[in-house]
Amino acid sequence: MAFPLLKEFGARAAVFLVAQGVDRDNFWRDAHAEPSVRMLTGSQIREMQQEGIAFGCHGMTHRNLLRCNDAELRYEVADSKRRLEDRLGRSVDTFAYPFGAGAFDPRIRGAVVQAGYRLAFAIRQGKAHPSQDPFALHRVLIRGDDTRLDFALNVHRGKARL
Ligand SMILES: [Zn+2]
Repeated sequence: MAFPLLKEFGARAAVFLVAQGVDRDNFWRDAHAEPSVRMLTGSQIREMQQEGIAFGCHGMTHRNLLRCNDAELRYEVADSKRRLEDRLGRSVDTFAYPFGAGAFDPRIRGAVVQAGYRLAFAIRQGKAHPSQDPFALHRVLIRGDDTRLDFALNVHRGKARL
């Protein structure tokens, strides 16, 4: 996990939590294709908060929001925000769409705006810029096996390696 390094170098970071994933694993995975991975625990989150790590919301159960009806969408976007805010003791202002690119549309964007978020992140390759829709900010994918050179190039180009 990257936290000890972030701490050592005083780097800023934001972590997006699946509200029901705290203290659990990636229960939303395809169990035939993906291994179980432990998610952060409540006490790890508290420790990271004290070190200045920011937390955003990545849905209640990591569903594809395009497949949710309006009530399910509110549960994934708004109820999850409140649940995390209760847990973190502070406001949660940012949202990252599960499944990123193509997994949001105007209805989903509207639900995120209505829930009271200030920013939301898609997975569209590129650097975030003030001219972009604040509810569809771009990101650059960083992989776990990227070298330091890959990382530097990704950030510089605004584009992940192939
Ligand atoms: Zn995800």
